[in-house]
Amino acid sequence: MMKKLLVSLVLGTMLFLGENAMAQEVLNAKQKSIATAAAYAARGDQKGLRQALIDGLDAGVTVNEFKEILVQVYAYCGFPRSLNALNTLMQVVDERGNRDEQGALPGAKPKGNSLDYGTENQTKLVGAPVQGKLYAFAPAIDEFLKAHLFGDIFARDNVDWQTRELATIAMLASLTGVDSQLKSHINVGKHNGLTDAQVKEVLEIASESGAKNVLFGFGAENTAYAKYFVGQSYLQPLANDGVNASNVTFEPGARNNWHIHRKSGQTLLVVAGRGYYQEWGKPAQVLKAGDVVSIPEGVKHWHGAARDSWFTHIAISVPTEGASTEWLEAVSEDEYGKL
Ligand code: MN
Repeated sequence: MMKKLLVSLVLGTMLFLGENAMAQEVLNAKQKSIATAAAYAARGDQKGLRQALIDGLDAGVTVNEFKEILVQVYAYCGFPRSLNALNTLMQVVDERGNRDEQGALPGAKPKGNSLDYGTENQTKLVGAPVQGKLYAFAPAIDEFLKAHLFGDIFARDNVDWQTRELATIAMLASLTGVDSQLKSHINVGKHNGLTDAQVKEVLEIASESGAKNVLFGFGAENTAYAKYFVGQSYLQPLANDGVNASNVTFEPGARNNWHIHRKSGQTLLVVAGRGYYQEWGKPAQVLKAGDVVSIPEGVKHWHGAARDSWFTHIAISVPTEGASTEWLEAVSEDEYGKL
């Protein structure tokens, strides 16, 4: 009873706060397209980038704003990614008949040398001077970071720092092996006014930019089996001669119901993202790219994505006389929520 009352109080307060308070917390259309463009540019996915640029230009992002973001890509992902992304922007702008708003160019460079104002910018961005053993070990990288990235690039004032950080978080979240940099830029982003909800959205956008670029193709919405799934999944058939193989992509939080493969087992080859496999009465196993799961016939189980990650596996089975799948109850929010 108390719990119910509390829930309705919280909901009531959220409604009371209304649209304005909510609107400030989530990304607007321009921010979304900038995060999306940065993520695809970082991955080198020109097809995804192209659509993000079109959406962004339609939403009012200027050509010069996109140029700034895609130039900044090089500091985090290297010149090749940046050059290819800028080339895609050039093509898109041209195809649209050069009708898009050019927007402001950066103002004059600050006075003094870039190492000095870059150091100042870095301190302001992070909220404290940046030091560390690594920078003493390799002073050249410290100088380049300060003079070039935080000096030359961040002094270009036609894109504000919050937007630059939004793009940086999207880029870093789209790369692998840069967890500590991602973590520190999430802090920098929040220090520069990004809300928790906005950061969460950027991370979802970055995750999604990877899922839709999976090796074997994304496929179509899995409508045929939708009634046995919670959340949206996508199916790309790969083989059906002697062996059945399908690429299955789950959106964050999506999973199939408990089920049993009869007469013939199933093998899962994990391609991308993070997800779970669980057998009835056993703890769930975390799955990541490269993992293989052999599911014996007759074992009750489910598989699907983690709450905060897209997840893709290839499901393989051998068609056997009388083989079938017995679909059972959904994995409850309660069970899933505990993972
Ligand atoms: Mn299965």
